[in-house]
Amino acid sequence: MSIAKSRPVVPLNEPTFRQSVDLMYNRAVALMDLPPGLEEKIRVCNATYTVRFGVRLRGKIQTFTGYRSVHSEHMEPVKGGIRFATSVNQDEVEALAALMTYKCALVETPFGGSKGGLCVDPRQYDEHEMEQITRRFAYELIKRDLINPSQNVPAPDMGTSEREMAWIADQYRRMNTTDINGNACVTGKPTNAGGIQGRTEATGRGVQYALKEFFRHPEDKAKAGLDGDLDGKTVIVQGLGNVGYHAAKFLQEEDGARVIGIIERDGALFNPAGLNVEAVHQWIAKHGGVTGYPDANHTAEGAAVLEEECDILIPAALEGVINLGNAHRIKAAMIIEAANGPITAGADDILREKGTVIVPDMYANAGGVTVSYFEWVKNLSHIRFGRMQRRQEESRHELIVRELERLDRYLGDAWSMSPDFKSKYLRGAGELELVRSGLDDTMRIAYQSMREVWHSRPDVTDLRTAAFIVAIGRVAASYRAKGL
Ligand code: GLU
Repeated sequence: MSIAKSRPVVPLNEPTFRQSVDLMYNRAVALMDLPPGLEEKIRVCNATYTVRFGVRLRGKIQTFTGYRSVHSEHMEPVKGGIRFATSVNQDEVEALAALMTYKCALVETPFGGSKGGLCVDPRQYDEHEMEQITRRFAYELIKRDLINPSQNVPAPDMGTSEREMAWIADQYRRMNTTDINGNACVTGKPTNAGGIQGRTEATGRGVQYALKEFFRHPEDKAKAGLDGDLDGKTVIVQGLGNVGYHAAKFLQEEDGARVIGIIERDGALFNPAGLNVEAVHQWIAKHGGVTGYPDANHTAEGAAVLEEECDILIPAALEGVINLGNAHRIKAAMIIEAANGPITAGADDILREKGTVIVPDMYANAGGVTVSYFEWVKNLSHIRFGRMQRRQEESRHELIVRELERLDRYLGDAWSMSPDFKSKYLRGAGELELVRSGLDDTMRIAYQSMREVWHSRPDVTDLRTAAFIVAIGRVAASYRAKGL
């Protein structure tokens, strides 16, 4: 995921990211009836490990600081990405680890919450140097079981990708040569190194499935003052990294949404007639930013485009981009949080008051961890999804097709099979189709669990509080089952 040029100026009187997550948690928990003490037990971060290590680079030892935070071990392994950015700090990884706990509970992936981060600017190092740094960080975490298939399973996050996950998995296997489940120590690996198809696009795909599910419910759309489907809806996306790019691309190419604004580190592109997401993405890959892209207005003041009118605003980069400084100027009918924590607790209050519908991060960006879960299961079962049943499914379909062909001949001109029915129906589902189907199902069911609380309780006026109530309820149930 790419990083906006400068951190948004979060006003000084705003709480930190972790405090912001806690404030949102507290709002929800006040509406719940938890046993005394459990509220605090769930909220606090269990442990955060800080490591400082040296790597000899360019003739001298450079010292790096990294973190792995474990928020809740009510289920193990704990799960969450590893972020590489200079802005990484303890408060941030703890906030992100907490969000992982709630996210996993909400989408029913059987994990506790964790997160890691390394203070490094990956753009300052070449591939070989990044490999040395990543392996050294992984070594520190592996030897303390902070990377382990049954205890703590990282994944990509901002500044990391399948490349780093492949190095981490390899490092784990070198240190645990007899662990048959070694590949399951990390998810988001390349498909040729134990990964699963559809993981790279998963978070963006999840954002698309979340919006599709939202648009299936007329009462929910009405709350945002919207109607119809995604076709023609105007979208502004902030951050065209892995998540923002895939979400915007799928919404545009598959659902007909009109992407009118794209905000990146060097400013924003705006075109009310719609931008071509793929073309902008290729431009960024070639030129390092959006500046100079034809067919759009460019403004260096990227953050101002967050405040343009649109149906759907998708913050997909950093936390805190919508804060007390700009929340009252946001005009989007709805916001879907593709990033973790893009709206501060204070901004959330303002937007809720204004009636802006917010699809919260713990749901909206859960596609990544959902497909990570499928990858972890695949690694533990040592078999690709669909391998056993695909051909059997195809031969059963063949039987029906043959019968239909017989009918076709018998009925002559009166009836015939649709031209592509046979090839479509005959094709059994491969891994990618199964991953998409599992992700779609997960996003639909999780949305329905949130909306049920949203619609059935008069004291719950927003989806975020509803999401917290569902997630905290599940974590609490798991503590109760342990006798706590
Ligand atoms: N980093 C992603 C997130 O924030 C993915 C985590 C995972 O797959 O474990 O949800």
